[in-house]
Amino acid sequence: MADRVFNFSAGPAVLPVPVLEEARENLLSLGETGVGIMEHSHRGPAFTAVIEEAEALCRELAGIPDNYRILFLQGGASAQFFTVPMNLLAPERTADYLNTGAWSKKAIAEAKPFGKVHVVCSSEDRNFCYIPHGRDFSDGAAYVHYTSNNTIAGTQFSGIPEIPSGGTLVCDASSDIFSRPIDVTQYGILYAGAQKNLGPSGVTLVIIRDDVIERGNDDLPALLKYATQAKAGSMSNTPPTFGIYIMGLVFKWLKQQGGLAGIDESNRNKAAKLYAYLDQSDLFQGTADSDSRSLMNVTFVTGNADLDTKFIATASSAGLSGLKGHRSVGGMRASIYNAFPAEGVDALIAAMQQFEADNT
Ligand code: PMP
Repeated sequence: MADRVFNFSAGPAVLPVPVLEEARENLLSLGETGVGIMEHSHRGPAFTAVIEEAEALCRELAGIPDNYRILFLQGGASAQFFTVPMNLLAPERTADYLNTGAWSKKAIAEAKPFGKVHVVCSSEDRNFCYIPHGRDFSDGAAYVHYTSNNTIAGTQFSGIPEIPSGGTLVCDASSDIFSRPIDVTQYGILYAGAQKNLGPSGVTLVIIRDDVIERGNDDLPALLKYATQAKAGSMSNTPPTFGIYIMGLVFKWLKQQGGLAGIDESNRNKAAKLYAYLDQSDLFQGTADSDSRSLMNVTFVTGNADLDTKFIATASSAGLSGLKGHRSVGGMRASIYNAFPAEGVDALIAAMQQFEADNT
């Protein structure tokens, strides 16, 4: 087997090695069943145990109360961009959106066919390099939507944004879900594509409160109604069984890391080291405002596009892959999600120090 490199990819992203090893063990036969994990019927007892365990671990990790459903859906986080307004918006109603990055913009665009959309705040004036403070909420919004971590711009909300009392908060947490403790009770809906912090692509975790499900529009295709999925326990049709299995293993791994408090400490340490290096570097600079920095996606530049390209190539030949920044920001992006090892951050800093010595 080829040696594994340090994979800074923004997603699909690095998974914990023990998770991959356990999955490998079960590809040909899940436990003693003689049938591989991908080959089990979703209605059979073996897979039923898998999905029940994944859900139980998810509830335990995040302290999710009984009045919330946990759904394992398909279509990626992008499908939630339209599923949320399809269920909760209506032509005469308004939904409030915080516009903090390219993914927020996509969510806004996808909501517009279903009702009125009001942008509460935006950081687009500076290419989304900060989290705006001012908010201009509308009266009686159907819900308020925000993106907790902006994968492309490298910014993150440090806490849960305050919304008008009685409002329904909806969060796209695709790139920071379960990276720190979370108070689920503040949310009506919390959703995330799995492929950064939870597992492989192809499964989307949706955590939704019962009264929000009940409020949903009825006149929709069955699969796009949260009510259908909740009633069927995500088994209205064949669910993404392999992805759910891996998610369960990731939850088990997270528990072994000390749960969300434990992984939070590890994430803070990784990010703090990298930002401390950037702050004293004469060559590399972070692109996000310091009070808005993401602990998951660290974006930085040299200020010279040719040097950026050279650094990415140099790092890649030293076993540091996936550092190229998104084309809308340029430069570099180090995605250091839950499963990204601390040694990889040390290796990146060492490579940056060397590059700086050789190029200044
Ligand atoms: N939201 C955020 C914050 C993301 O980072 C991404 C993917 N990078 C998406 C949504 C879209 O996710 P998907 O590809 O699963 O639809």
